[in-house]
Amino acid sequence: MHFTGTVYRNPYWPTFPLLQITQGCTHNRCKFCTMYKDVPFHMQPLEWIEEDLKELSEIFPEARTIQLLSANPLAPSFEKLLPIFEMIHQYLPKMEKIYLCTRVTDIQNKTVEQLKKLRELGMREISLGIESGDDWTLDRINKGYHASDILEQCHKLEEAGIDYWMTFLNGVAGREHSHEHAVNSAKIFSQCKPMLVGTGGLTLFPGTPLLEEAQRGEFDPLTEEEMLQELKTFVENLECDCYFNTHHTIGVNLSGPHFLKRKERIIAAIDQNLQYGDLNRMASIRRNKKSL
Ligand code: SF4
Repeated sequence: MHFTGTVYRNPYWPTFPLLQITQGCTHNRCKFCTMYKDVPFHMQPLEWIEEDLKELSEIFPEARTIQLLSANPLAPSFEKLLPIFEMIHQYLPKMEKIYLCTRVTDIQNKTVEQLKKLRELGMREISLGIESGDDWTLDRINKGYHASDILEQCHKLEEAGIDYWMTFLNGVAGREHSHEHAVNSAKIFSQCKPMLVGTGGLTLFPGTPLLEEAQRGEFDPLTEEEMLQELKTFVENLECDCYFNTHHTIGVNLSGPHFLKRKERIIAAIDQNLQYGDLNRMASIRRNKKSL
């Protein structure tokens, strides 16, 4: 297989087989991320993709799902993606679901009709690393889009019948803008119809501009307690009836379907952790994280 350097995949989807169709990230400028720092964005050569598919067809001839890599494999134009999707079916004829994580901006260069075609070919569920629905925060972390872009592109996915995940990055606005980040993100997420809302807490990794800013006193990170308070504000304001998923550092599992039915229970669990949780233990779990 032609995997170039470190690859990241969504651990909640079937993890085999994986197929790399792009290298790196087209944006590569989010201030909290080092995932693809040294990997310039390229399309993977078509010959490599075909060789990998041949190999996969020998190992997993019955494969019904596949996960496409790397950071944002939906970035190339529809015209470039179509032959790859068709080739997946040629080598793996039982293919039903093609999963991928990507950026909101990668949907901009595709029409609803083109998205429908990709859906027909299996792209029924994708994950969007939204991080925030608050414009001040999106600019602060250099995300490269605004709340209006999130709404426009997510509504296109809905029209095309493609399910999508949205993630909220708890803590990324720092202390200065925490409340607005939580409230405005929940407002924007609530105007969309994600099948899943995921939340993860910010860790300041070595090599990230945000850590350097924190070291210079220009970014004021939240404490574990403030992280939980921000998460609670986000949950209180979120109105999507989705699966709610969190890999937060708290010891209680808040994940599950029917968010709106469970909302009060989730808030109560966060309150309980705010009162009795071991905040030092949570901080230590966060410090030991190696990547996003
Ligand atoms: S967070 Fe995602 S979009 Fe931003 S630089 Fe990292 S991989 Fe690219």
